[in-house]
Formats: sequence, structure tokens, C-alpha cells
Amino acid sequence: MSLTRLTPDIDLEGIAPDEAFSILGNEIRLDIIRALWQAGAAKQYDDVRGDTRSMSFSELRGEVGVDDNGRFNYHISELMPQFVRQTDDGYRLSGAGKRIARTVIAVSGAEDVDLSTDLDVDCPLCESPMTAAYEDQWLRIECTVCDGMFGDETPEGTVYFSNYPAAGLADRSTEEAAETGLFRCLLDQAYLMQGVCRECAGHVEATLSVCEDHDSGGGQPCSTCGTRTPVWADQRCRTCGFGKRLPIEICCLGLTPVIGFLDDRGIDALAPTFKEIVELLESRSETSVSEDPFCVTVTIGGKTGSVSVKFDDDMNVLDIDRPTAKTAD
Ligand SMILES: [Zn+2]
Ligand SMILES: [Zn+2]
Ligand SMILES: [Zn+2]
Repeated sequence: MSLTRLTPDIDLEGIAPDEAFSILGNEIRLDIIRALWQAGAAKQYDDVRGDTRSMSFSELRGEVGVDDNGRFNYHISELMPQFVRQTDDGYRLSGAGKRIARTVIAVSGAEDVDLSTDLDVDCPLCESPMTAAYEDQWLRIECTVCDGMFGDETPEGTVYFSNYPAAGLADRSTEEAAETGLFRCLLDQAYLMQGVCRECAGHVEATLSVCEDHDSGGGQPCSTCGTRTPVWADQRCRTCGFGKRLPIEICCLGLTPVIGFLDDRGIDALAPTFKEIVELLESRSETSVSEDPFCVTVTIGGKTGSVSVKFDDDMNVLDIDRPTAKTAD
């Protein structure tokens, strides 16, 4: 699958992505977006209100600190109509302008944070202490002793590894950030399994890869694929390239019948603990692969009953076999 981002036929409110990058590649224009955002100059859809606040030309120019009327007018016109809209009373952010402002806020904060204290939670695999690291907007939880959950697919010892906005670290302990990160990850699966990108609402494509000679006995990663599970899913947005590569059993947690099945058994599939995820991978699920036609079946079991999901090689769900209400334990 091609990993090319921003395919040329994708328009952003009538402009090509390259054009959007070039419009925003200017300090004054980004400062206009900042000033409008700080003044709340936008349509208040988010509060389920239809009212619009705006900022006058002179107020906005003063806030951004540009003396030359003509020069300021040029920059503001470049932002219109994609990022800034003109109203009878002045200027406001468009929906796209608000999105840019929110993105800047989400990634603001320390780039690399020292979280090098031991976590209160032990490794779900070997019960040794775990540590957390935050670098380049990625949060990583790692075991100080074992190989971690994913083997060669991630740095050694990784138990959790995902993009996490810096703003989400504020007012949260490292343990809370880890819980929040895991929740976001599982929620991503709810989107991706519907074929929808969380970042841009584009179409998601998926492929499955299978280790033919998988052997991960004794809790060790397989010597052929270097990981603990034989079937991995690669899910990627056709438009913006947002994607995930995870064991297929984790992807199943984004499917409503599986969420319902686990909920009946006291597990919140969208907000599980690390221990529950490991238990699911190691002892609650069974994955089988058959050829001609190729299909992968994941069965997640409880004390009585189980739910089975059958996928083709593009990860389309072919069939879901779930217990009836009477057989739920
Ligand atoms: Zn460990
Ligand atoms: Zn393998
Ligand atoms: Zn996308």
C-alpha cells in the first residue's frame, strides 16, 4: 500500500493541501488565527449555539501588531475564505481555522518530558516495574525487564506506544496519562474498524500480514516474526496517512459485538487495563488462519460462550458469530 500523504485529488474546502500549507506558512497569518482564537471570534457551533463573535479589522490589526493597513489586509485576504471569514462586524475563524487553532493547542507544551519515575502499575506480562517516556508527542510505557508486548515492532520492552498530544499531559499523573493513552488507542480502533479516519474522516484501508511459521511458546517472541502474535493488521487512512499497526485481536476490541460481549463479562473494551489487554491476547483469544479463500478468525472467549469474528485479507468483516442473550455467562 502506498504511504503517500495528501493525494493530489483531495481538496480542503476547495483548496489543495499544498496550497493550504503555503497559505499557513507565514507568521503573520498564523498570528491572525491565534488572535481570532483568543478573542473567541468564531461561530459557536461547538456550544450548540448559532451565534457568531467577530473582531474588527482595526482591533485584529492592533492585536497582531502590523502597522501597515495594506500589508495586513493582504495577509488576511490570503486566509479567506478557507481559514478566516468576513462578517458585517469584522472577522472570525472558519471551521478549518478553528481546527488549526485546536491542533496548535493540542501539541503545545513540552516536547520532551522527563517522566522517568517508575509507574505505580507493574508490567502486565512479568510484573516488573515499568517506566514512562515522552518524546516528540509520543508516549511510551516500557517494562524494565521483559521484551514487552510487541517484540520487534516497537523499541525493546514496549508495553504501550502511541501518539499523545502534549496538552493531554497537563494536570494528569503519568498513570492517568497512560490510561488516557490506552483509551484513545482503543477508541481509534472503533473508528478504524468502521473504515473511518479519526484525524480527517477519510477512508481507511487495511491489510493483514500473517507469520506462517509462528512460534511464541513460553511467552517469548517468535523467532521468525519477532513478535508475540502471528496476525498483524495494518490500517491506514487513504487521505492523510494516519494509521496503526497492531495485533488483530486488539483491533477486534473496536467492534460493537465484541464490546458488548466483553461488557457482559465486566470488561470495558474501550477503557481496559494493561492487564486485561494482555489476558485477552494470551489466554482469552484464539486466532486461526485458513487459505482458499484466505480468512482469519479471531475467537474471544468467556467462561461460557465466545464471540468469533471472521476477516478477509483486506480486513473486511465476513461474519460475526456471537452468543445469544441466553448463553451469556
Ligand atoms: Zn515485563
Ligand atoms: Zn511469528
Ligand atoms: Zn485521515
